[in-house]
Amino acid sequence: MLLKDKVALVTGSRRGIGKVIALKLAEEGADLIINDIEVNDNDDVIQEIRALGRKALAVSADITNKNDVIEMVEKALKEFSKIDILVNNAGIYPAHPFLEISEAEWDKVIDVNLKGTFLVTQVVASMAMTKANYGKIVNIASVDGKVPTLGITHYAAAKAGVISLTKSFAIELCQYNINSNAVAPGWVESETVLKGDRWKEAIKRIPSGRLGKLEEIAHAIVFLVRDESSYINGEILDVNGAIYMD
Ligand code: NAD
Repeated sequence: MLLKDKVALVTGSRRGIGKVIALKLAEEGADLIINDIEVNDNDDVIQEIRALGRKALAVSADITNKNDVIEMVEKALKEFSKIDILVNNAGIYPAHPFLEISEAEWDKVIDVNLKGTFLVTQVVASMAMTKANYGKIVNIASVDGKVPTLGITHYAAAKAGVISLTKSFAIELCQYNINSNAVAPGWVESETVLKGDRWKEAIKRIPSGRLGKLEEIAHAIVFLVRDESSYINGEILDVNGAIYMD
């Protein structure tokens, strides 16, 4: 096991990519703080982590609300005394043409994807990681943060911001032995993606000819948070089936 005795917080991990990341970290030996807007002990992810013999703490918190975030980290520290790994996964991606995006939707998309990543990282870093002189942060960016597709102007701007935050965190926090990296997925088969139609056109442009699997994103996270990756800092790792390369 690569992550024995580590404690990991994954935001937005009740379902989708975040859930599979949490399960993969647990398989590698980590105990988990499972965050979502609403999550409790009855959720599958909590039961599945416990079935693996690891601890799982469910914490409902809106990552765009600083008080919620502080309370979440307080609960986590009360239970585990430390947070070694933070995966900023929570995100939303409503699609509308640029000319139809409302101000409210712009604010919401920027708040969840960009401000949430800032807030959770600042609170976790100041209350836990800097004190422990140890930390591994991975932000879930997106290929859209590098080259936008049609219909997600706000999301693409937010994820470009997440890529920039990842690099700022790296240079600001390396003095505390904290690494900050990002994974930039292409199109991945989460329930939220599959229940829409946009992937049906997008798949024609993916050289690998298929969507990414949730486990393929989780595997990249494990690679970045293991101690052997300690000199990788500020990296944006593409996991996208060759749809985009830079
Ligand atoms: P999803 O909708 O299945 O899961 C996102 C989770 O985040 C949900 O459980 C949701 O409740 C939670 N969440 C939303 N707002 C929150 C908030 N304010 N506070 C706490 N939790 C909140 O989405 P997914 O497809 O699994 O995507 C996960 C991440 O991966 C997102 O950041 C997304 O932008 C990114 N991503 C996804 C794809 C893809 O193709 N699925 C591609 C690139 C990047």
